[in-house]
Amino acid sequence: MKKHNFSAGPCILPKEVFKKSSDALLNFNELNLSLIEISHRSKDFVTVMDKSISLVRELLNVPNGYSVLFLQGGASLQFCMIPYNFLKKDGKAAYIETGTWARKAAKEAKLFGDTKIIASSADNNFNYIPKNYTVDENLNYLHFTSNNTIFGTQIKKFPSIKPPIICDMSSDIFSKKIDVSKFGLIYAGAQKNMGPAGTTLVIIKDNLLGHTNREIPTMLNYQTHIDKGSMFNTPPVFSIYASMLTLEWLKKNGGVDWIEKVNNKKANMMYNEIDRNTLFCGTAKTTDRSTMNATFLLTQASLKNEFELACKNEGISGINGHRSVGGYRASMYNALSIESVEKLITIMQQLEKKYI
Ligand code: PMP
Repeated sequence: MKKHNFSAGPCILPKEVFKKSSDALLNFNELNLSLIEISHRSKDFVTVMDKSISLVRELLNVPNGYSVLFLQGGASLQFCMIPYNFLKKDGKAAYIETGTWARKAAKEAKLFGDTKIIASSADNNFNYIPKNYTVDENLNYLHFTSNNTIFGTQIKKFPSIKPPIICDMSSDIFSKKIDVSKFGLIYAGAQKNMGPAGTTLVIIKDNLLGHTNREIPTMLNYQTHIDKGSMFNTPPVFSIYASMLTLEWLKKNGGVDWIEKVNNKKANMMYNEIDRNTLFCGTAKTTDRSTMNATFLLTQASLKNEFELACKNEGISGINGHRSVGGYRASMYNALSIESVEKLITIMQQLEKKYI
């Protein structure tokens, strides 16, 4: 049976990425050796690293003066690397608290110095993006989470401000055009739109580094990884290789311009059905809804088992909501087809036909 994988992450990747990366595990580049048994300093792997970096630069139009890094430790390690490298000893940082991940990021920064949450949507279980706040011009940085994977909200417009903006784009990187020059640092765990878990993409404006007067441990210092081209230590070769394949797939099909249209189409279809069908209701504020993760509830709790069984029978997987929201979450990352969204919508419509 064909599967329709709506998992929030790790998640669906293009079929050809699974195929090519599994081939490379057995025989990489006709070497009769596996990708994961050769030196990361070999010409064959260095080519993968170089290609991955140049694809990120090309697809996101990364300006000069920015470095592209493939690190480890997930997006979660960035929560502490950011203040370590950007928050001056007598400086201050601010965070917009739009969900669990933003809160976790701010918690780490508090270990390093003056960190304020200047806006939060915790008062309504993070179902909206707060927009009324003033930004102190003297901040070392302001931190955002662009897409709140758990709560299904997404920032549509970033403010124009003087302090550098640092943004966790783990769950919407490569899903639409972005203007990298507006950011001081962008980071994203690979395991949504880029590849398998194991590497974290960091795009960093070089001239913001080196101003904190802190002694930074070597591995936690961005400059180390810039100087060594993400090869200071052994990189996660499989995750980077599969990410390269995903980015090649994206480029071949038309890049972020193309995928943005596809993603908007999928999200519009999904939200139209959630709004139209009286058996379902969305949980996020309409204007702040995420194109990546649509969160919704059944209006008649008694239909839970029947809906879930129908999904299972039709090959739909991964739509259970996060425990802090409940209900359902349809994650519609780049590799999810329009056909999969249609399938889910059909099930919702069949349920409505039967009961309404
Ligand atoms: N930020 C966001 C927006 C996320 O969705 C996640 C997890 N999926 C994380 C951070 C944490 O990422 P990781 O597991 O790579 O540390």
